[in-house]
Amino acid sequence: MTDDFTPPEEYGAATTLAHDDSFPAGAVVPPIYQTSLFTFASYAEMEAAFSGQVKRPVYSRGDNPTVQEFERKVAALEGAEAARGTASGMAAISSAVLSIAGAGDRILSTRHVYGDAYRLFEKLLPRLGITVDYVDCGDLAAVEAALPGAKLLYLENPTSMMFELQEIGRLAALAKAHGAATIIDNSWATPLFQQPLRHGVDLVVHSASKYLSGHSDTVAGVIAGSAEAIARVNDRTQPYLGGKLSPFEAWLLVRGMRTLPLRMRQHQESGLAIARRLADHPLVTRVLHPAFSNHPGGATLTGHSGLFSFEVEETVDVPRLVDALRLFKLGVSWGGHESLVVPARASLRQAQGPNSMSAFGVTPRIVRLAIGLEDTEDLWADLERALAGSVN
Ligand SMILES: *Cc1c(COP(=O)(O)O)cnc(C)c1O
Repeated sequence: MTDDFTPPEEYGAATTLAHDDSFPAGAVVPPIYQTSLFTFASYAEMEAAFSGQVKRPVYSRGDNPTVQEFERKVAALEGAEAARGTASGMAAISSAVLSIAGAGDRILSTRHVYGDAYRLFEKLLPRLGITVDYVDCGDLAAVEAALPGAKLLYLENPTSMMFELQEIGRLAALAKAHGAATIIDNSWATPLFQQPLRHGVDLVVHSASKYLSGHSDTVAGVIAGSAEAIARVNDRTQPYLGGKLSPFEAWLLVRGMRTLPLRMRQHQESGLAIARRLADHPLVTRVLHPAFSNHPGGATLTGHSGLFSFEVEETVDVPRLVDALRLFKLGVSWGGHESLVVPARASLRQAQGPNSMSAFGVTPRIVRLAIGLEDTEDLWADLERALAGSVN
């Protein structure tokens, strides 16, 4: 395992993920460097490392070879020069945002941003002198009107309850013209289905707890971008905020990501099949799935993951519906092997303010599904049976 290995551009994502480079003793799986520090053979070596002359791991809060293996894989998939593993998706988001914005700065965020990103924007950033405004990033004119004076444009394409789309290439160009940087949360699409850096976005953040891990067995995150943008993260935030990724979690991620292309193909196929049947179901009023939208923001998506929402008729008792499901478990998060369901009404009561769900059309009749890796027909039978038994 060498520090400077970058998988050749000509390899596809599956090859990049399945093919590992030179691990010690010809191993095909990376070692877990379960160590907090890395010692030096001499003073000269120590000095070379401290001065930045030689890049090598010194302390695992900074660099760790197992974590670097994960970072290289994500960078290769995103078409990034560099990536930084973090302890969670929120550690990635907070480190990325604070590497750009400081006291006196204003952030423009897409409305309906991920819940804890919203709470970061509302609870912590104002205490640091950073203000955040929200706008419908599906509306270019609205973004252009709100951009002057913003330091950062924060995106999610699509958003994760209503699945609203955004034209990330045009938005990144608009932001650049106004001197603002762009960050996008790419957890939904994964780098397999959307590569925002290729469309001019500056930094990509992921909750690796979702599809990248794929097995619901770890909480992790990652930031990807140009060498310069990641150097800024390393220089200004990540090591000091301290949200580091552990070697074992990185190992789980490298293991999980080997099947990312296979899993995403299945999430997409099964998700689309179920979304289409729901759209035809008499008890369903609409399906919120990027594949069903004609918004131009869908153009950067080369595929669809298995997370989407649908809205039921008023005659359907939503709590009864979700309680009747057997394969779809009630739970937060998504991206693992198991199918999950979250009714919007469970969060509608909590959310208030500019990010409140009711402000942009979330109704108590909306239900979000994460389609897992079970047999599509079993999942559909479960949904059909639960729907039929939940009419008032
Ligand atoms: C889960 C999630 C996050 C936060 O990631 P954690 O790994 O839980 O910290 C961020 N963005 C989106 C869209 C998510 O679903």
